[in-house]
Amino acid sequence: MLYKLRYLVLLSIFIQGCVSASASSLTPTASPVPPIPTATLTPIQPSVPDEATATPALIPPQPISRVFIVTFDGLRPDAIEAAEMENVIALMQTGAYTMRAQTVVPSITLPAHASLVTGTCPAKHIARWNEYVPQNGYALGTDIFDLTHAVGLRTALVVGKEKLRHITEPGSTDFFGFVDNTDEEFDETTIESMTIEQIRAGFGLLMVHFPDGDVAGHQYDWMSKQQLGAFHKKDESLGLFLRVMKDSGFYDGTLIIVTSDHGGHNSDHGLNIPEDMTIPWVVSGPQIVPGELQTQVYIYDTAPTVAFALGLPIQADWDGAPVYEAFGLPVDPLRQGGCPGVTPR
Ligand SMILES: [Zn+2]
Repeated sequence: MLYKLRYLVLLSIFIQGCVSASASSLTPTASPVPPIPTATLTPIQPSVPDEATATPALIPPQPISRVFIVTFDGLRPDAIEAAEMENVIALMQTGAYTMRAQTVVPSITLPAHASLVTGTCPAKHIARWNEYVPQNGYALGTDIFDLTHAVGLRTALVVGKEKLRHITEPGSTDFFGFVDNTDEEFDETTIESMTIEQIRAGFGLLMVHFPDGDVAGHQYDWMSKQQLGAFHKKDESLGLFLRVMKDSGFYDGTLIIVTSDHGGHNSDHGLNIPEDMTIPWVVSGPQIVPGELQTQVYIYDTAPTVAFALGLPIQADWDGAPVYEAFGLPVDPLRQGGCPGVTPR
């Protein structure tokens, strides 16, 4: 009922807008108009109301040169404050954010990251498994790495789980590096050192994945002291990356997106319940209008938002849409959102 009411209000505003725009376009202006031969009137007339009623051009007014995406694996929105993730909080203050974005079902790492980069629900990208299985190939569809790489921008993907190799084809990443933190032995600094190297090399799209909070959650429970400690530590790494960007001259013109792949409850995740499904989604940088987003954001809106920001083509088969509200643009009132067959609980 509320939805219908809002739609009717919007429809009436739209109709009023059309009427007033048409009326103003037909009102004679005071400025002198030189006589126009009658024969030319017909083709000229339509252009005036067209301009007056045209929807705002959805073209970013300021340049966004590159995009930096960070995913904190298993980060529930309520962990940000609890873990005192100061750098994420600072990006929320300078950017647009929502603490009620939704991931996909199943709410697990590989399908969710695949949805993030492909802009589609798991039914389309089909990467519904959650292990590294080389013969399974790659998530289907045109993803944001494909598009960015195709226009000659440098792309890099640094992850903490090898299975994330499945989210995009090797040919679309100029650099792919992973550290499997689930191994007994791992070099904790490697994700950091690889990422710093990639920042300094320059990039059009750089995506970094921190597995640590998820690993701690499975071992010690979600929102445990250990998990919050892991998130806090990786937030410091994010701060380091931002400093490196500033020092190397790659901060201005960079759109930064911070999000997660799923939340968790007890020592697990994967269900269609709010604790597992609800994720933070933060965007900060040029053109972004700061504040809390009213738009219902889905994880698969990330790829379209990146495409929009970089001026790349929005794919017709994407399930997601750019988060226009973050750019101060109107929200599409007819947007449905949500993956088919998935009812939020
Ligand atoms: Zn995960």
